[in-house]
Amino acid sequence: MAEIINGKELAKKIRRELKKEVAELKENGINPKLAVIMVGDDSGSQVYVKNKSKACEKVGIEFEEYLYDSNLTEKELLDIIQKLNNDNSIHGILLQSPVPKHIDINKAFRTISPEKDVDGFNPINVGNLSIGEDAFISCTPYGIIKMLEEYDIETEGKNAVILGRSNIVGKPMIQCMLNKNSTVTVCHSRTNNIDKILKNADIVIAAIGKPRFVKKEMIKDGAVVIDVGINRLEDGTICGDVDFEKVSEKASYITPVPGGVGPMTIAMLLSNLVKAAKIKNQVKAVH
Ligand code: NAP
Repeated sequence: MAEIINGKELAKKIRRELKKEVAELKENGINPKLAVIMVGDDSGSQVYVKNKSKACEKVGIEFEEYLYDSNLTEKELLDIIQKLNNDNSIHGILLQSPVPKHIDINKAFRTISPEKDVDGFNPINVGNLSIGEDAFISCTPYGIIKMLEEYDIETEGKNAVILGRSNIVGKPMIQCMLNKNSTVTVCHSRTNNIDKILKNADIVIAAIGKPRFVKKEMIKDGAVVIDVGINRLEDGTICGDVDFEKVSEKASYITPVPGGVGPMTIAMLLSNLVKAAKIKNQVKAVH
């Protein structure tokens, strides 16, 4: 049976460390603060923003919400971002997706100053990650790397197969695994023979949003399986992209849903925010 990678516990440990760091910063007159912008009333986003707010509160990070209805124009949004860029009391800016269709989200991400881009979506951070420079790394891939490190999972020379090529998970994950010296294959909706490719994977990272897509027969004995998916089923329960029960019988390590990648994503957002506050104030960043 696979060992379960407990993202919830690791996230707690990271939050405990961050809480101490935030307290130290405050003693030195630095008050880490995150600004979250939400446009429209997407119900999923409301839950995510609430969870982020609670997590910030737990470690002592100040949290400011900027909520707008879906009529906000792109120009207005860009002006709000610029204002937050210029606000010295704010260390991180997060634009919750999705945004209404009339707004070009990439343009908005480009407008967030790279120094405050704690989600790691500005092309400057994406580029710095890809050339191995210090960068704010997209929180989900960053959290996955932290989990692999915590559990001493060997990545060097291993075949890592990533399912999904989104800008927020799949693509930055490719770079993160390359930086960990894995040999990386990425699959998407047009990939042929996913089964065959998965069979050769030492590490599987599933981020496609398809309930229980990865089956026991698809993986090799002892594979490490990381499940990013969050899928709400008709009965209201949540499951990942991996058939957890069955795949656990064959994998060496596996992340559960919930309690795996999800809590780590939020923990790394807090970590990025603390890093941003430290860089701005020229305190040595440890993360
Ligand atoms: P996304 O933007 O919808 O991208 C999905 C990716 O999966 C696309 O690249 C798509 O390929 C690929 N795909 C879809 N169906 C496929 C199939 N049958 N076979 C192979 N590839 C397929 O999704 P996302 O934002 O990356 O999120 C993926 C999942 O992770 C979702 O369930 C989301 O809720 C979850 N998520 C969780 C966290 C967390 O913190 N735990 C964070 C972010 C996302 P194409 O590019 O060809 O369309």
